Amino acid sequence: RAKGAGRGQAQYYSRDFHEQIEKRARLESDLVNALEKQQFVLHYQPQVDRDGKKLIGIEALIRWQHPELGMIPPDEFISIAEESNFINELGRWVIKSACAQFRVWLDEFALTDISFSVAVNLSAKQLKDKGLIDYCRTCIEHYCIPANRFELELTESNLVTSLEAVDTLNELANIGVELALDDFGTGYSSLSHLKDYPFTILKIDKMFVQSAESGQDDSMLKAVCAFAKSLNYKTVAEGIETAYQHKMCVDLEVDRLQGFYFSKPLAASELKQQWLLGQDKV
Ligand code: C2E
Ligand code: MG
Ligand code: MG
Ligand code: MG
Repeated sequence: RAKGAGRGQAQYYSRDFHEQIEKRARLESDLVNALEKQQFVLHYQPQVDRDGKKLIGIEALIRWQHPELGMIPPDEFISIAEESNFINELGRWVIKSACAQFRVWLDEFALTDISFSVAVNLSAKQLKDKGLIDYCRTCIEHYCIPANRFELELTESNLVTSLEAVDTLNELANIGVELALDDFGTGYSSLSHLKDYPFTILKIDKMFVQSAESGQDDSMLKAVCAFAKSLNYKTVAEGIETAYQHKMCVDLEVDRLQGFYFSKPLAASELKQQWLLGQDKV
């Protein structure tokens, strides 16, 4: 009986695996036309100040609304896009769409006087796109986005340590946009090289944030925050899911807070309804 169950298990796994391969192949072939079919959408996750109430920024997160497979999260298709130059086209669409939406909200909600930023994720592959810098400059100029309110996030594990990448990042920083190192603490980048990059913001990975629970070991979170602070980085904590984690991040003087405890990523209309309409105008 046990043997039979074991075999069933193996079949189950192999079918599962087979389905995964098929799905990826399906996504690969459908991805090519998804942009022109306007199947991508940006959701926006609020970033709040320490009191947990005031909206001080948003992070744009891409989703693929597949006509048959439903909403597909970025982890399932960004890596496919990165296998070809399609990531450049898709990445540009994200930058442009985030700028366009931000412009609408800046006008509609008079957010001009308060510090309020929009963050976009960049694939490290996009740093090889020769036109990227001009594209960013043109977008923020066209939509009149104050450059210092526009942030580009690069994940640490994704980042290649090449002189070329450092050059491109420096040129981006020279436009005036802010650069954030995403998922900080989980990559392999050597701490001694951190200062070679023009990052001004460290996004503390949710792994550290979520390790903080009453009675658990929070020494890593404390150390990472102290490290960021002593090197004068601005900090964003991601993945805050509980009141305890919120309190810890406040005690550690993290500048900006993000996580399901405050809000999940929202469609543009939801962000407007739930956050912007209630926001005090300054
Ligand atoms: P990320 O930039 O680190 O974004 C944070 C991810 O954590 C998001 O997942 C978000 O929904 C999720 N998250 C936020 N708060 C919580 C929380 O409290 N608990 C938990 N468990 N998760 C939380 P999402 O939207 O699925 O994005 C996954 C990753 O895909 C992003 O990680 C980013 O690296 C990448 N990505 C998203 N949009 C883009 C894009 O436009 N371009 C590129 N190149 N990558 C993108
Ligand atoms: Mg990010
Ligand atoms: Mg992150
Ligand atoms: Mg991530």
